[in-house]
Amino acid sequence: MSKKKMYMAGEWKDSASQECFETKDPSTGAILAQVPRGKAEDIDRAVAAARTCFESEEWQQFHPAERGRIMHKIAAALREDLEAIALLETRDTGKPLAQGRKDVEAAAQYFEYYAGMADKIFGETIPVQPGILDYTVREPIGVTAHIVPWNYPLQIIARSAAAAIATGNTVVAKPAEDTPLTALRLAEIIDQTELPKGVFNVVTGYGFEAGAALCEHPDIDHITFTGSVQTGSAVMAAAAKNVKPVTLELGGKSPNILFEDCDQAEALDWVMRSIIQNAGQTCSAGSRLLIHRSIKEEFLKKLSERLSAVRLGKGEDDFDLGPVLNEKQYERIESFMETARGEGAKFLCGGKREEREELSGGYFFQPTIIEGLSPKSYVAQEEIFAPVVAAFAFETEEEAIRLANGTDYGLVAGVWTSDGARAHRVASKIRAGQVFINNYGAGGGVQMPFGGYKKSGFGREKGLEALRNYTVLKNVALKY
Ligand code: NAD
Repeated sequence: MSKKKMYMAGEWKDSASQECFETKDPSTGAILAQVPRGKAEDIDRAVAAARTCFESEEWQQFHPAERGRIMHKIAAALREDLEAIALLETRDTGKPLAQGRKDVEAAAQYFEYYAGMADKIFGETIPVQPGILDYTVREPIGVTAHIVPWNYPLQIIARSAAAAIATGNTVVAKPAEDTPLTALRLAEIIDQTELPKGVFNVVTGYGFEAGAALCEHPDIDHITFTGSVQTGSAVMAAAAKNVKPVTLELGGKSPNILFEDCDQAEALDWVMRSIIQNAGQTCSAGSRLLIHRSIKEEFLKKLSERLSAVRLGKGEDDFDLGPVLNEKQYERIESFMETARGEGAKFLCGGKREEREELSGGYFFQPTIIEGLSPKSYVAQEEIFAPVVAAFAFETEEEAIRLANGTDYGLVAGVWTSDGARAHRVASKIRAGQVFINNYGAGGGVQMPFGGYKKSGFGREKGLEALRNYTVLKNVALKY
């Protein structure tokens, strides 16, 4: 078992307190590494490193195209070591190795995508009046804080850090305490490049210590937070004290809406994938299935057969479905199942832990379909973060839209129909940041802006839209 260090100002450090915590493999419970338990003092050091670097002549004068070239090298380094990094991510999160590989590839794509933008951030000239030259410039916002959840650790750090670095900021990242290893591996890769030391810093630690200290820090300029609604709300309150802008990427209870004229065979594949990907621990998981009454029975029968045949196994063995993160998550899921049973819901498949002897080291939860819940019930409204889908029937388009919009979340929705006009009509009425028509994606490609309506958060990550988070607009007026 290795002992890790944090990365700040280009140096590898223990925590100031010398304390550590363990990170475990969710498939087996095996301890993978000892990781420094960063606290406020360590956050101070990392923020100071990022600030010093941000204000340095070296970084201020760094050619934007050169930032881009280095970011391409980071993408290439991630791909060169893809197998090993994917395995590290798989061990730390429990996800199937195929998903681990996709995550590393996605991280490489973020660096590549934003590398191309590094020298294409510019303002406008604005006609004001004769004798005045008025123009805008987009400047980097400064020291950016990035707080990341445990479900897609490397992808999500890459998503926001790449956009921040491309636009000339410096970064302090705080990975989730359960999955800190790939953030540290990314730091190793960045350390080998020509980026000035202090551009990228990682503090490992618990949310209530390192995370809270980072959000409260007066010397950061922006917070990108990805995680739960509850923590997001606390992060926003901390940021408000220092009047710092936040981008919040929170949870979801995203629906797939199946009309009677959809291609059911195609929909079946996507609906299934949308709930078993990453064991349902995906903010944009398709955790609600809204289905026209005339096709409901037949579709649910097929879905149930397919989900019952899903192969569960350890992340490294690369079956379809890995374990959920830990005992706490498992207990949370169990409590949702009990509530659903108490409400008289019917389980078409799953609903319990996979008990096979060889999987006893991890928390493997069977793919589950729940039917018969009231759409207003707790289980129908709240994010479970498990391979559990709740099905509801509708009769009319209006009812489908009402159900789709009937939770506090609004992250993603899938619309399944062969009627093009209906597809666009429904898409226009859905209150969600992304609508997929006859397909479905966990956020889609790196080019697609991603973010929430309502309690799913605000601000947009990914795509060119994310660059707004990390730049601030200045207007300059010159009289001649
Ligand atoms: P979480 O809110 O418990 O933790 C997220 C991060 O916040 C972790 O790094 C944690 O250490 C840190 N944290 C905890 N308390 C903090 C505090 N007081 N101040 C600052 N930081 C603190 O979420 P989680 O359980 O890691 O992740 C699951 C949640 O994340 C789900 O709700 C999921 O939907 C959401 N999520 C959203 C997206 C998205 O892009 N919209 C992507 C992935 C996950």
